[in-house]
Amino acid sequence: MEPLIKFVAKDDDPRDYLRETFRVDQYAVGTDGSSLVFRELRDEDEWSEFNPLPEHKNGIEQAIRRFIGHTLAVKEWREFPTDFDRPHKDKLIERETCDECNGDRIVEWSTCQNDYEADCKGCDGRGSTRVDLVPAEILGKNFNFKLVSRFIDEKNLRINMEELADNDYGRLFFQFGEFGEYKGLILGLRL
Ligand SMILES: [Zn+2]
Repeated sequence: MEPLIKFVAKDDDPRDYLRETFRVDQYAVGTDGSSLVFRELRDEDEWSEFNPLPEHKNGIEQAIRRFIGHTLAVKEWREFPTDFDRPHKDKLIERETCDECNGDRIVEWSTCQNDYEADCKGCDGRGSTRVDLVPAEILGKNFNFKLVSRFIDEKNLRINMEELADNDYGRLFFQFGEFGEYKGLILGLRL
């Protein structure tokens, strides 16, 4: 699969402009808002294959330019370690209260004549929203494996990990591909 595609927002993402790859300056870009990957476009034919972001999304385009700049500025890359425990996908963590039922697992409503209640469809009656947050310890830091797994098996994977600040935010830069032509970053590491 084209690696850029793995990074685009899901089809049900409200930010429809992120659901496909797009062009920023001379780069093709895929992002879901948490991670971003880009590669330089080769020629004009390729240039025309990608649309720019809608004009009113200038702020996002500026942010993407900034992140591309930060990634291109990375000078030191290291091999990605392969000897870590890959979490099993059953280990998804439930941590968010369902907005629809407020964690009550049921929803109630009334008409003039009747009261009703039903299992909440927002969370299938669980009361919480399943979050795809599977931590994996890599180089002594915890990463959201769901994000890391998008590039973890790519050829020539190299990374640069920014030290986490006190507020637990950090960034993981990566590059991969035959010539290291794909580059990108995971934006908010919050585990
Ligand atoms: Zn619910």
